[in-house]
Amino acid sequence: MTTLPHRPTLSVVAPVYNEEAILHELYRRLTAVLDGAGLDWELVLVNDGSRDRSPQIMRELHAADPRVKVVDFARNFGHQVAITAGADYAQGDAVVIIDADLQDPPEVILDLLAKWREGYEVVYAVRAERKGETWFKEFTAKAFYRIIYKITDIDIPMDTGDFRLMDRKVVEALRTMREKHRFMRGMSVWVGFKQVGVQYVRAERYAGETKYPLKKMLRFALDGITSFSYFPLQVATYFGFIAAALAVLGIIVTVILRLSGSHAFYGQASTLVAVLFLGGVQLISLGIIGEYLGRIYDEVKGRPLYIVREALGFEGDEPAL
Ligand code: UDP
Ligand code: MG
Repeated sequence: MTTLPHRPTLSVVAPVYNEEAILHELYRRLTAVLDGAGLDWELVLVNDGSRDRSPQIMRELHAADPRVKVVDFARNFGHQVAITAGADYAQGDAVVIIDADLQDPPEVILDLLAKWREGYEVVYAVRAERKGETWFKEFTAKAFYRIIYKITDIDIPMDTGDFRLMDRKVVEALRTMREKHRFMRGMSVWVGFKQVGVQYVRAERYAGETKYPLKKMLRFALDGITSFSYFPLQVATYFGFIAAALAVLGIIVTVILRLSGSHAFYGQASTLVAVLFLGGVQLISLGIIGEYLGRIYDEVKGRPLYIVREALGFEGDEPAL
């Protein structure tokens, strides 16, 4: 006889990459909020290949409180994949994705829950204000959300990260979407359902450094754009039309100048500029095609999204994907 897994009301999923300085405080803050509200909850910690003491601390937390469950990755697969795994393993009727570093205050979960109880199926947290971020990060993030909003077909809400609550129905829909380059904040909009935002003030990191250096951030931004838009590919077409139109104009002007007996004014410099400019545009276009092609290649290989070394504390079967 198989026992049905116990379904808690709420699963909280937190991805963890080298967060040894934070885990105890995360557990303490979450417990205070969730127990205070009398909820039946579980905390799914996904160890994304940490190289510090995070995995040991996660085990200790699990040993002391079985509501803390651990998914231990075989290596670092990245933040978006870690939250995917957390949602795959989570068993709650509602699943909240939260950063482990306490930039997303656990107290806000109660606001998310209130909207869920009103019947909303995705409740995302909107950053009304960000504390302790560099002006550079704030500016690039703001610009990015505005660009992606413009060039994608779905209405990805502005200034919204992955901090959100999703109903079980939404989580099940997401589980069917196994794309390799994941932009979860877009995917959870793409599925549809009744969505609403709740404002919050994004806090400073509790301890440690950001795990998103500029290079990772750029990759992530590209994943977001390529996942939901063909616009960069179409830019080459627009450039092509503009260049062709200019060329036709150039021919006409040259012919007229020749027939009217004046000297053609095209010198070496203008030829060089035109060649270099078009060469540049062509290389950039090739690079853009490459970005899409590489992602297609990753899809075609059909590898699993992540490899789990060990899963601790989950009842019933491993999630079937
Ligand atoms: N994270 C992860 N894998 C990574 C990078 C980050 O699981 O490869 C986790 C990290 O531990 C944190 C969350 O993702 O819980 C957000 O990362 P971080 O706070 O460094 O990003 P930021 O808030 O600076 O954008
Ligand atoms: Mg952070």
